[in-house]
Amino acid sequence: MTNKLNVVWSPTGLDLFRLCELRYHYRYNLNKTAVEKGEALDRGTLIHTGCEWYYKTLQNKFKYEVAVDTALVKMKQKWAEESNSDEKELHEYLNTMEQYFEYWRVEDQRFEIVTVESPFLFLLHEDDEKRIYIDGKTDLIISDNQYHNMWMDHKSMKRDGEVFRMSNQFKSYASATKSNFGIVNKIGMQKTLKPHERFRRVMLTYDPLILDDWKQNVIKVTNHFVSCVAENSWPMNETSCDKFNRRCEYYEICDSSGEEAKTYKLNANFKSGDPKGGVLAILDSEKDKLDQQKTTIEENNNESSNRVNECKQETP
Ligand code: SF4
Repeated sequence: MTNKLNVVWSPTGLDLFRLCELRYHYRYNLNKTAVEKGEALDRGTLIHTGCEWYYKTLQNKFKYEVAVDTALVKMKQKWAEESNSDEKELHEYLNTMEQYFEYWRVEDQRFEIVTVESPFLFLLHEDDEKRIYIDGKTDLIISDNQYHNMWMDHKSMKRDGEVFRMSNQFKSYASATKSNFGIVNKIGMQKTLKPHERFRRVMLTYDPLILDDWKQNVIKVTNHFVSCVAENSWPMNETSCDKFNRRCEYYEICDSSGEEAKTYKLNANFKSGDPKGGVLAILDSEKDKLDQQKTTIEENNNESSNRVNECKQETP
């Protein structure tokens, strides 16, 4: 059937929309991002760069020493190009990665590296009105004599925390790779801990029932998203303004009086960012269908307000 609505979620976009619709709107519809990159984001980017080049080099059958050197050089380049970290932090990240490579040296050369930083897009659901796709990228996919196409996700962290298999990101990986097994590869930055405490690989397992629950939920969330787009209405979720002791970056905007003040602060304190990453797109070809929905909603609204007015006039 043609003229279906195509909705493409990224796990990050899905998470943000679930956290707060308005936050999603500021970040992905208006593309407004905080001027400074957060520390965790910056560190994560550098650590991912190191892992990416290390595993790519190993995949190309170069020696361990070459893979380590390549990874460290690429991290330095990335730092020089776009990082906000200072030199001391860079050295901390480089040291951590050298220790990480050494710690997993034997294990990492034991498995087959299937892909590194591999993008995916899969159809999660299709009905008469819409198709829902999930778009993303896996850090690493590996196989050995026990597991086939097992995904691995690198997580750099300052403090150790529990890993939850409920995550949208991990369920997307499990669905994309069709593998019921995945690994969260923890890379701890805590200098006081020993390597076996800092570098831990946590295995997650999934089954079809868990993934189907997730799918049904994404369908409901998508229906809500479509109505937000059609009505151009993005509710605030005040329970998310201060999550995990971290204030939302748009707090000052939402806490301002009136649209004029909000718009001024949004333009003055935020830059126009890169819309990709949280990719939730309604494909351009589907805009007409949305416009039709919007018109129908507006017509219904007008009809209701006419009816209200008629009732008011009839009321003595
Ligand atoms: S401050 Fe609160 S309501 Fe405003 S965007 Fe952030 S989470 Fe949403």
